[in-house]
This record gives sequence, structure tokens and C-alpha cells, in this order.
Amino acid sequence: MQFNFTTQPNNIVETIYSNDNILLTDKIVETPLALPQQEGIYKIELTCTWEDYSSTYSFFVFLDLPITYKINQHSAYPGDSFAILISNVNEEENFHVTAPFYNEALDFYPYEDGFLCIIPIYAWSTPGKYQIQASNSEPALTNTFDVEILPKAFDVQYLQVTESTAAINTTDNSANDQVYFDAARSNPIQEKLWEGAFIQPTDGKVTTDYCATRYTNDNPTPSRHLAIDIANTNGTPIMASNHGKVVLAKELIITGNTIVIDHGLGIFTSSFHLSEIDVKEGDFVTKGDVIGKMGSTGYSTGPHLHFAIWKNGTFLNPWTFIEKDPVEFK
Ligand SMILES: [Zn+2]
Repeated sequence: MQFNFTTQPNNIVETIYSNDNILLTDKIVETPLALPQQEGIYKIELTCTWEDYSSTYSFFVFLDLPITYKINQHSAYPGDSFAILISNVNEEENFHVTAPFYNEALDFYPYEDGFLCIIPIYAWSTPGKYQIQASNSEPALTNTFDVEILPKAFDVQYLQVTESTAAINTTDNSANDQVYFDAARSNPIQEKLWEGAFIQPTDGKVTTDYCATRYTNDNPTPSRHLAIDIANTNGTPIMASNHGKVVLAKELIITGNTIVIDHGLGIFTSSFHLSEIDVKEGDFVTKGDVIGKMGSTGYSTGPHLHFAIWKNGTFLNPWTFIEKDPVEFK
């Protein structure tokens, strides 16, 4: 912003106010004060002094900054995610984000002073270089983020289950259970309830890892295990992996006693096969709260916890969430 005077004052003091609070004040020597880096309405006051008199001028400015986009990381593994932070968005402004490795609709949640978009990376994504594009019109602007999906090897596992256990795992039973999962995630909480890294929800031995290719009973068509299995004795406490709201607490056919927690921004965790459920739907839980006990209910061969993290319908790698908060921006 430039100020022009017919007779240049000997001295100018500029003060910028936001809601009556002084943000910045300084004597202008060469150039005016830098404007704040946040959108808003500011009052600017100029106290000008000439040889024989002085005068104060004040006026308001509405600062409309262009939309800015920030990414949390530039490389990640299959099963991880990228997050885009969108700032300085006014009501009438639109923006658009595309990621060629994700073929479902992206959603945006109000976050800090703008919006957050979490882009899941499918476990079966092809490693390589991709471009995430974030764009808006008026002014037309496209931000391109060069990202890389890094290669990662996952386990292969051969599993034998008894005939009676195998009989539980049918398409009909799966469809029956799915109705409850779809309902549980139909209305995600719009704010971030979780804080920091997630915790491993129980103690025990990891018997099947995330994204293990699993061949069951010599079936030539494998399935992918998009969760972690942790085995221990029946009754081992199961904890909430982070803060959230219980949106499903029910015995289902395949997943047995099941708990789903909504952590906000489309992130959910699920715990299967419990022997006991110690929470009810609608409860708010804190990271570390005991929510149930380990068991072997449903399609299961022994006491273990099947623990999954999902963004909407995509199962992500729980270990990444346990390592660090997935939406930290430097
Ligand atoms: Zn499992």
C-alpha cells in the first residue's frame, strides 16, 4: 500500500489495528508497514507531522488475500495419505483439488482458518511420481504439488480356518454387517477430535500386518488384510486409539463384537472380535480409555484384535497414524 502527500510530512507513524488491538506500529521511513498475512478488516492510522502542524488520518481496509495451498508431505507409502491445507477462502470463492491416484470424491472439512482435504493413498497404488493439483478461479490459479508414492513390500500369509469358521464369511453376512458400517460413517464429525499420534490400542503379538496378502484354505484368490491383528489372551483390555465419538457398538456377524469410533474429519477406527464391549453409541472417549476386551467373536480363529483406520471408505495403515499425527503441517 502506497501513501501520497502533496507536501511530504517530515514524520509518519503508521499503526495497524485489528478489532481495536494494535497489531503493528512504526515510524515509516522508506516504505509503509507490511500488511498482516491474514484476511480481515483492519484500521490503519497515519499520524503525520509537518514543520508547523500534525494530523491523523484513519481508514479501514478489507484485506482479501489469494487462496493459498499447503501440503503436509511430498512422499508417502501406499496406505498413507497426503493432506492439503487451504487458507484465505472467502464465502464466494471456490477451489478444487485433484489427485490422479485417488478415484473417489475428495471432501473438505473446516480446519483452522480454512479447509482441510485428506487424500488417502490406496494400499494397492502403483508407486511412482504424481501431481496433486489445487486450483481456484478469480484469480485463476493452479498450484501443482509434485508427490511420490514410494514402493513398499507387504507380507504374504497362508491361513487355515475350520469349516464352521469359514461358513461365517459369506457375501450375505458381509452385506449385512456393511449396512451398519455405512450408517456409522454416513455423517462424519466436521471437526478434528483426535490429538497427536494415535496409540496402539492393545498389547500383544502382531499376527497379521497391514496389507498382508492372505491366502485362506488354499483358495488361489488372495485377499488383502487392510488392518492389523494383535493377538493376546482373551479379556486383554482394548483402548481408544485417540479421542473420538463411538458411532457403532454392536455384535455383528463377521466382525463379532464391534466398535467404531469417529475421530472427526472423516477418520474412523474400528475394533473387531471383542469378547466384551464397554462403551455405547454416542459416548465420547479419550485416547487410552478402555473400550472393551479382546475376544474371538465373529469370523476369527482365536483371541485377537483386528484394528483398522479408515478415511471414509479407504483403509489406511494404522502404523502411520501411531507414528505421528497424519495432518501435521510444518
Ligand atoms: Zn484381522
